Amino acid sequence: MGLFGTGLRRICAVVAASTAAEMANLVRSALRQTRTVELRLDCLSSDAERVRFLAWLRKSKPRNATFLATCRRREGGGKFAGGVDRELCWLIQAREAGCQWCDLEVETLRKLPGQSVREYPVPSHILLSVHDFERTPDLPRTINAPAHGGVDAVKIAAQARSIHDSVRLLRLARSSRNFVAVPMGEAGLPARILALREGSALAYAAVGAATAPGQVSLHEMKHLYRAHALTRRTPRGVDAVYLPFLVRRLGDFLAAVSEFGIRGFSVTLPHKQTILKHLKECEPLAAEIGAVNTVVVRSDGSLHGCNTDYLGVLRALEKKLQLQGSRALILGAGGAARAAAFALSRAGGIVSICARREKAAKELARAIGGEVLPRRALRTEFFDAILNATPLGMHPHRGISPLSPGDLHCRIVMDLIYRPRRTQLLKLAAKKGISTVSGVEMFLAQGIAQWEMWTGKRAPEASMRRAVLAALRAEELLRKGTHNDTRTSIRTATERS
Ligand code: NAP
Repeated sequence: MGLFGTGLRRICAVVAASTAAEMANLVRSALRQTRTVELRLDCLSSDAERVRFLAWLRKSKPRNATFLATCRRREGGGKFAGGVDRELCWLIQAREAGCQWCDLEVETLRKLPGQSVREYPVPSHILLSVHDFERTPDLPRTINAPAHGGVDAVKIAAQARSIHDSVRLLRLARSSRNFVAVPMGEAGLPARILALREGSALAYAAVGAATAPGQVSLHEMKHLYRAHALTRRTPRGVDAVYLPFLVRRLGDFLAAVSEFGIRGFSVTLPHKQTILKHLKECEPLAAEIGAVNTVVVRSDGSLHGCNTDYLGVLRALEKKLQLQGSRALILGAGGAARAAAFALSRAGGIVSICARREKAAKELARAIGGEVLPRRALRTEFFDAILNATPLGMHPHRGISPLSPGDLHCRIVMDLIYRPRRTQLLKLAAKKGISTVSGVEMFLAQGIAQWEMWTGKRAPEASMRRAVLAALRAEELLRKGTHNDTRTSIRTATERS
């Protein structure tokens, strides 16, 4: 068993607020999800709030919980304005209030006589923390905590400027004992989630506002990523997680594929074409389309590429339209337009391309044996289906439509955009009584195909649909909320002026 226990106990909820009352609420909320909680005393706005909060903690004595007290000084990247003696004073009071652990930054330890904190009655277990908010420094091969100044565990939280940086920190977690690895920043996010799997004693997640760059919420860490339940064992079910990688350089990501144990990945813009030269095998159709959105990693580490956008378009449209012999117009000539054009022409459709760059439209039309149509022709031509494969109307430009009502002479309009689910184009079409297909249908169908390629198992379609719709709905509600907030603050500002 690890230092903090097993399973969910290794997910540490970070509680940070400016008032004692808010902190207490966050602690209650955290304890409903995990039993390990870090208390950021330095985030409280004053000593009076710290006194109030610790009095609450002492009185309420949450049972069966592990509390880590932190009162990080500014020098160590925290918010506490006091000196070392004041920091220690608050940690001592935290012990009296029931905290079993404290986080002590290396900057403080260095200032103590003999570089040891054992003389002070701070919480009996000590996590020595090292923060680097700029970069991931050179790291040792291994860290075994008791050897370091009598502390019980060591934490390194370092900004990952690249995926490789986060891999270095995970390697250290794998080879060390009583060690906590915290890769910070967007590039470090997947490693932050996989740290527990690699042997980190803890993974941190925010209950309220994030306290470190790239920190994920407690809800996401537990329910979306299930960080505490991931293993490297060969599973009977699906022991896997789908993680977002910020890929600035494709080479940086590809070098980390085996290290992370990646078995498959989706490819998004701008890497859909560049990935082609890194593949050992490419499905002929994906090669013809010239874009790969799905890669399967074979057991020998080689990469096999395919295109499920193609399948996504087919699945989404064939429910509503007999594709053989139908006439379709595609707006745009980018990656998604190419997948759609190949899909429809292979299914026996007659495809026209309309794009702002005539050269790109001509090239695509030639590749599929279709025709190019100038924009003005849309006023008079009739189609079975019109597909928007441009980003016009996508969030945040949601009020925009690539076509006006006078351009819509067709039976079906499909928008490949799925943020928002109902675009302005789909609203205009519905107003004219035209049947509509949202990009969500394509998104789901291509994701289902990806799942089956990666796992070799049938995808749980109904659960995937529910999850995607719930996530998009939540996003839209959040945006509406933010939008209303902006309007409120504009109104308030106007009223004041
Ligand atoms: P892309 O490769 O960048 O292609 C975009 C196309 O739209 C290009 O032809 C581009 O023309 C054109 N375009 C961009 N801005 C325009 C404007 N203001 N006016 C006219 N044309 C414009 O992007 P993509 O990967 O094909 O993606 C296109 C859309 O499909 C995105 O909204 C994306 O979210 C969506 N999509 C959805 C799914 C799904 O599963 N539902 C899958 C893939 C993509 P230029 O070449 O002249 O810039």
